[in-house]
Formats: sequence, structure tokens, C-alpha cells
Amino acid sequence: MPTELPLLDTFGRVHNNLRISVTDRCNIRCFYCMPADNVQFMPRKDLLNFEEIARFVEIVAPMGVNKLRLTGGEPLVRQDLSCLVEMLARVPGIEDIGLTTNGILLAEQAADLYRAGLRRLNVSLDALSPKKFREVTRRDGYERVLEGIEEAKRVGFNPVKINAVSIRGITEDEIVPFGHFARTTGCEVRFIEYMPLDADNAWERDKVLFASEILEILSREVAPLTPLGTQPPHAPATDYEFADGVGRIGFIPSVSQPFCSQCNRFRLTADGKLRNCLFSLEETDVRDLLRNSEDNAEVRNAVRESIARKWAGHQINSADFVQPDRPMHSIGG
Ligand code: SAM
Ligand code: SF4
Repeated sequence: MPTELPLLDTFGRVHNNLRISVTDRCNIRCFYCMPADNVQFMPRKDLLNFEEIARFVEIVAPMGVNKLRLTGGEPLVRQDLSCLVEMLARVPGIEDIGLTTNGILLAEQAADLYRAGLRRLNVSLDALSPKKFREVTRRDGYERVLEGIEEAKRVGFNPVKINAVSIRGITEDEIVPFGHFARTTGCEVRFIEYMPLDADNAWERDKVLFASEILEILSREVAPLTPLGTQPPHAPATDYEFADGVGRIGFIPSVSQPFCSQCNRFRLTADGKLRNCLFSLEETDVRDLLRNSEDNAEVRNAVRESIARKWAGHQINSADFVQPDRPMHSIGG
């Protein structure tokens, strides 16, 4: 139970969901997230260590933060990640820890992560065709991701959710195979609309394949889909089930139907900056506060002030939209 006032913004949104980026490094190079080469990574000394991350979580948990998700960059390239999961699972008030990964290192780490207390797992996989996987990620590794998903299921993760970014000109051929994949593997496949967070600034609205289009294709070519009766109020995804009860599909229509009015999330970057929105143009440094002071009150105030400054929502669909300087891998998706 929270023992302090909740993290409320000026629009009445309560923030209980913290996404923690543990690194900006990655072992592949998805074009919608990172540049192809010569990426400037954060110096290691700038990254929060596990004790600093855990202390931050201990500070925000009494304010009602009970859901965490570890992300990056690729979180599994951060050494001993399962130790961090263990530390976070012990923080009073934390009820739910998730991880989003590209799956390349998952087969090796799934068992340790499960033992450490991780239960929610999203694996990003944009294509079931190995050729298309390479086109998107600019690296090899398709087989390893599939092995990772299998191993995750074997050690007990249930469900394993698959994240696929939906991009016009790329995703169309993958829709029906993903529909069948959801039905045969039991993994829920979630299509996320491509957002303007790429390092190359090449995003255009015309490149987004909209959730409504994918829904229509799946319903026509695989089987009818019906929305699940009970959807958690703050979930960005709308989940559907095939009408015969076999297989689930989710949609995160961040561009066509932004869910900003329901947003309950904030983010901590790997270098200790607070971001009250994925698309924020300003950040609050908490690393120096965590490193230079024993006083938790300063961190607490910094968090409250950051949440209080949160805007109503991103402006992707407006001419005024400004893409953040940080690309997705350095924010933490
Ligand atoms: N490396 C991990 C992975 O790929 O799952 C975690 C970090 S990644 C930034 C988190 C999620 O953001 C992934 O599912 C990825 O597909 C998604 N993502 C990255 N860039 C995106 C973009 N421009 N638009 C939509 N989703 C994006
Ligand atoms: Fe790496 Fe994830 Fe970004 Fe792909 S989306 S480049 S896997 S951080």
C-alpha cells in the first residue's frame, strides 16, 4: 500500500508504472530505433548502477509505483540483469516486473530471470521471415530469437508476448503468418504502430501501418477477431481473441489512437534522467541526486515536479510535433 501521496499530474493521471532503461547498447540495429553504424553509446560511468536503480525504486514505491518494466537498448546485454530483477522484486510495494527484449540472448538467460522473479516477458520480433528480420534489424539472429521464445516458455513464462512494430511496406506480408503464429504457439502478438523515435529521423506518417488495417486483414484472412471483454484501463494495447477462442492479438495504436489521456507511465533512462513522457523534450536528472546525496527527499521532490509538469499528450498528429533528440534505444521503449 502507498504510504505517501500518489504521483498525480495536473490532468488527474496517477503514475504507478515505471519503465527503467538499463542500457542504451544493443546487439542488433533495428532501423526504426538506432542508426546502422557508429552509434555513440553512453560512457559506462554514466549508467546508474544496480544499487542506484534499486534505491530509486525504493523511493518511488511508497508513492504508489507498483509496476516496473526493464528495457533499453537491449536489457539482456547488461551483465547480471537477473541480480537487478532480484533486488527490485524485494522492494516492498513492487507487484509486477516485466522485461522487453529482442530475444537474442534470451535462451541463455530465461531460467535465471524467471528464478529471480520476472514473470512478464515481451519479445520483440518484427518478422517471421528471416530475410525480413535481417532487413529490419540489419543483423543476424532470427533463429536465436525463436530459440529464446521457446526456452522462455519452457522455463515457465506464460504468456510470452511478441511485439511487432507495424510499418507500411514491411509488415503487410507478416500479418497472416503472425496470426497463425499466435494461434499455434499461444504467444500473443502485439502490433505497435511505428512511432517517430528513429535515430535517422526518417519517420513519416505514411510509413505507419495502422492497427485498423491489420485488424481487418487478420479478420478476413485468418479468422474473425473479437475484443476481449475486460481490458485493463491503463493498458496501451487493445487485446483481441480469434472468435474460436484460439490465439490473441493486441494492438498499440500509438499514432492513430493515442492513449495519452490514460497514461500512467514515466521513465528512468540508463543515465539517470527522468522522462515523464516517451516524447518529452525535457528531462530531470536524478543521477547526481542519487550519487551525491543521501537525502531521498530531493529525489522524491524531483519526481513529483517532473510528473507535475507532464503535458496532456504527444503531438505526433500535429504540425507542431518535435521529435525528441534521443532515439528510442537511448530513451528506453
Ligand atoms: N531491445 C529491446 C527490444 O527491442 O525489445 C527493448 C528496447 S526496445 C526500444 C522496446 C520496444 O520498442 C520494442 O518492442 C521495439 O520494437 C519498440 N520500438 C523501438 N523503436 C520504435 C519505434 N520507432 N516505433 C515503435 N516501436 C518502437
Ligand atoms: Fe535494439 Fe530494441 Fe532498438 Fe531493436 S528496438 S535496435 S532490439 S533497442
